[in-house]
Amino acid sequence: MGHLKPALPVVLDLTGRLVVAVGGGPVSARRVRAFLDEGAVVRVVAPWVCEDLRDLLADDRVEWLERDYAGPADLDGAWFAHTATGEPSVDREVAADAETLRIWCVDATDAAGTSASVAARADVSTPDGRVTVSAYAAGDPGLAVTVRDGVERAIVSGALDLRRTRTHGRPGWVALVGGGPGADGLLTTRGHELLASADVVVVDGLAPRAVVDRLPASVRVIDVGKTPGRHPVPQSRINDILVEEAQRGVGVVRLKGGDPYVLGRGGEEREACEAHGIPVEVVPGVTSAVSVPAAAGIPVTHRGVARGFTVVTGHDDIPVLPTGGDHTLILLMGVSRLSRTMDLLVAHGRSADCPVAIVERGFMPTQRTTVGTVATIARLATAAAVEAPAVVVVGDVVRLSPDWRRVSSAG
Ligand code: SAH
Repeated sequence: MGHLKPALPVVLDLTGRLVVAVGGGPVSARRVRAFLDEGAVVRVVAPWVCEDLRDLLADDRVEWLERDYAGPADLDGAWFAHTATGEPSVDREVAADAETLRIWCVDATDAAGTSASVAARADVSTPDGRVTVSAYAAGDPGLAVTVRDGVERAIVSGALDLRRTRTHGRPGWVALVGGGPGADGLLTTRGHELLASADVVVVDGLAPRAVVDRLPASVRVIDVGKTPGRHPVPQSRINDILVEEAQRGVGVVRLKGGDPYVLGRGGEEREACEAHGIPVEVVPGVTSAVSVPAAAGIPVTHRGVARGFTVVTGHDDIPVLPTGGDHTLILLMGVSRLSRTMDLLVAHGRSADCPVAIVERGFMPTQRTTVGTVATIARLATAAAVEAPAVVVVGDVVRLSPDWRRVSSAG
């Protein structure tokens, strides 16, 4: 372990202030980008620049002295300097000149001698504002990055609960978050981030259970999904709940199965909130329409097999759609009217021999796939007591699933 150099972490406001960056390589480019992002004016001193830095030169705030470092005059007017020339002797010279001029200087090639260091940093946005995480480990930038990533992950995952630090009196908000098909890992990072700052979480039956179970006890969970022996909460009531909760000034995540906008009534919920002036963020999710077939080894398109797909609800009579085996049809909520739907497909012109798979409880330990054809699937589904939730896939892509191969080689 190296000894810790005394260092005080500070936050600099670079807005409108001159920063001199000596060196034209990728390290310089990365830092120049960061300086510009924070509003600085930048002078680059380098005989050549890499491509990334060249792109940044287009910014009006960047001046390029296209030559080698030529002494203290190059640092004229700077508040802050950065040297990464790849030449330790040049970096040393820049750092020494900066020292004489009393300009803080980052020497990228001398972790021990440098008068200033840039901490590893991440900007994490929460609905309540932006927080900058920065970590510094003397002489060990890799360690600093690991620590930064760890803190960022802790915030995003909710392990570090920011709810308690919230300043009150903020307006409420609603986020419609797509929870994915039920597997823990298939909820987006943004979804986790919002859940980590929600006060109230309104969940569906198909929202990822494990994620909900991990929420701290201080979070109020309102379950509006179907449970045995209880009717689901009507949509108009769900809309009212979202509005009422947000109007109390709290953060509300509406956690839905799959994607909020794929047969999920997310549009209605958004409109209801917006009609009351409540800000709504919509976070897409991994839809079951595509992911549940994938979980059963079925790609919804496949070169040479299927070029497109349609997703429809099986709740109502299906519309007339392309009938070829090369067009995949995906039915959500398709179990209860399966037999009627298959009849309609044939009436519309699809072959009775077209392969069909029903994938129940995708991504759950009890996932099961039943395969057949348009002609046989309804009978097979009844025999196997297939039940919701399930995704029905119709098309030649079904032949790519291990279940189809197993059944057809057995037959
Ligand atoms: N918005 C959701 C769909 C809601 S409709 C999405 O994008 O996935 C509810 C239907 O989705 C269910 O009836 C079923 O057809 C399907 N579904 C959702 N999750 C599923 C899962 N894990 N396994 C099988 N089907 C699922």
